Amino acid sequence: LMHLTKKLIEIRSMLISIDQSDALKLPSIVVIGSQSSGKSSVLEAIVGHEFLPKGNNMVTRRPIELTLIHTPAQSDGKTPQEYGEFPALGLGKISDFSVIQRTLTDLNLAVPASECVSNEPIDLRIYSPHVPDLTLIDLPGYIQITSMDQPETLKDKIASLCEKYIREPNIILAVCAADVDLANSPALRASRKVDPLGLRTIGVITKMDLVPPEQGASILSGNRYPLHLGYVGVVAKGSGKKGNRDSLGTLAKRSEDDYFGSHRDYFGSTSKLMVGTGTLRRRLMEVLESSMASSLHGITNAVQLELEEAQYQFKVQYNDRRISAESYVAETMDLLKARFKEYTAQFRKPHVREKLKAMLEDRVMDVLEQLYWTDKRAFELTQLGADPRVKAEDVEPYWRYKLEAASSLLTKSGVGRDSTLLVADGLRALIDSIAQGEPFNHHPRATERLVQFSHAILRERIGVTSDQVENCIKPYKFEVEVEPREWEVGRAGAVGLFERELKLLEDRLKELRQRVGGSRRLNNLVNYVRELDEKERERRQRRLQASEEDVGAAEVVDDYRYPPAQLVDGRHAMFFNDRIGILKLRLAALKSKRCKAGPENDVLCPEAFLNVVADKLAYTSAMFINIELLDHFFYQFPREIDSRLLYDLDRKEIVEFARENPIIRKHLDLQERKDKLEEVMKQLNSLATLRPDVQPTPRRQ
Ligand code: GDP
Repeated sequence: LMHLTKKLIEIRSMLISIDQSDALKLPSIVVIGSQSSGKSSVLEAIVGHEFLPKGNNMVTRRPIELTLIHTPAQSDGKTPQEYGEFPALGLGKISDFSVIQRTLTDLNLAVPASECVSNEPIDLRIYSPHVPDLTLIDLPGYIQITSMDQPETLKDKIASLCEKYIREPNIILAVCAADVDLANSPALRASRKVDPLGLRTIGVITKMDLVPPEQGASILSGNRYPLHLGYVGVVAKGSGKKGNRDSLGTLAKRSEDDYFGSHRDYFGSTSKLMVGTGTLRRRLMEVLESSMASSLHGITNAVQLELEEAQYQFKVQYNDRRISAESYVAETMDLLKARFKEYTAQFRKPHVREKLKAMLEDRVMDVLEQLYWTDKRAFELTQLGADPRVKAEDVEPYWRYKLEAASSLLTKSGVGRDSTLLVADGLRALIDSIAQGEPFNHHPRATERLVQFSHAILRERIGVTSDQVENCIKPYKFEVEVEPREWEVGRAGAVGLFERELKLLEDRLKELRQRVGGSRRLNNLVNYVRELDEKERERRQRRLQASEEDVGAAEVVDDYRYPPAQLVDGRHAMFFNDRIGILKLRLAALKSKRCKAGPENDVLCPEAFLNVVADKLAYTSAMFINIELLDHFFYQFPREIDSRLLYDLDRKEIVEFARENPIIRKHLDLQERKDKLEEVMKQLNSLATLRPDVQPTPRRQ
């Protein structure tokens, strides 16, 4: 018989961990009583230790789910140790009950004063050879007098908390003091609300020693307020002396025994009245056991139904595939590495070189524009190149200086820093895109760490790399030697570059033409803009020649044939036309025999020469960026994943991580629910062997 309650108590706590709903609940004993009714004294008498928070104004602020587990004497005759455990806190076995008391006090005090009471129960288990197998829930005591620092709502809050716990199937232990009229007992009043027939309420009358024995006996007879489970009278006055806890049980018991012993005529065995803490314990065990046994059938059916549903869902949703938090974390990390590796293909040397070359080509174009295209003598250079009688070495030094200036503008434009940053930005974007994708979007904290450490690696390498690159391209700042083969590549590259630029300009021009309404209109517009410019130039000249007093006399622009926005278009078209003209001329030059002849014509074909320089810069930069930045990053990154994302996770963090992903969380939840229900079902079935009269036959097959 003992075993049944023990098993059911185990099953009860498993069920609580599966589901907080009322459907899957085995009964427990809920202790209610007003403040100072002697509730704590009764609980401590049952446990045999002082362990509940005491002190002025120390009301229980959270429900205590107290599970008592009877530990039988060992086979060698030694008495097992008594200890308590707070499973949620992970403090281990606590054999000093004053530590339990302090812990409960701390947990109580941790409830913010503004909340007064909290609904969240404290789970406390006590293992002892001196306790029966019982589950008791200690609730905050009903407050009679609202004191100054207890807000009005506290009373209501406590009442609603109690109401939640005293629902079926729980058993109500209503603690009333013998010296207070039962009619005034808040505990009985609350119980009557939910259990009007008194079918699942036990009355405990404390402080029996404070009323005359005949009055006490009359209360216990229960004639005034009959309870089906009866009243038990106790004298449960604590020892009151600190540091004397171990003898609490014996001391209290002695005063109780003394009292009832000296009033045998009222409370003796012939009276049929229930008195004493020992009787109370036995009574509670009987009541809990029979209540649990009668819940057994219903709970078995309920668990069976829940289990079938969970199994069905697990099959349908996951095809019975089991997962674990550990495997999810490992898979995620592998995925991260794999994705990273996949993306790193974008950072092979030819790719990087191409990217850097594109950046440098832009720069070549800027340099050409700055030094050549805006030079009024640019046409001279083209003419010189086209004249076969002109020898390259005879060309004016002006053009030689120009080429040297252009080359150094290119090599001294901060290539080391800019090319390093370009690649580093690419890596950053790569990490960001991994971080934003599935499943990392579910793991903001891990992703933040990922981003942080990858940036840290980059930060650490950027300075070194850009210095190294700058150092290695240094020779080009002074002299660039060009091989014929390199020249040809550079020249062809420049042709491609110009053709692309030409195409771009022609497209823009076409757009303008469409916007303005045809080529005739655009030509007119351009001519008009040119006229305007011409007039403006003349005006400025006149003004320079004119005397000072005439300066203020501004000339009025004669007409407004075009709206201002079209004038802007016209100006652009004019610019594009001029630029196209230059590019076409230079393109012809680049394709000419002379440019094709070789590097000795560098002065006459600056575009080819600068493109060769850009090629060399890109090649050298890519090489050193590869060594100093990329190799380093690609080596370091997967190792940082292991050391910073993975290995410092403990079991709890692994589960937390996995549960951040809603898909995994759902899967784990269902899997756990199913497992637990299976375990509970197994245990319920095994009870059938303990008590043949209790047959947990499931309703549905
Ligand atoms: P709670 O506030 O309901 O937990 O009540 P306590 O257990 O703290 O008891 C309130 C007071 O009543 C304490 O001073 C106890 O010592 C005292 N008390 C409790 N039970 C008895 C009893 O059976 N007889 C006597 N004389 N005093 C008791």
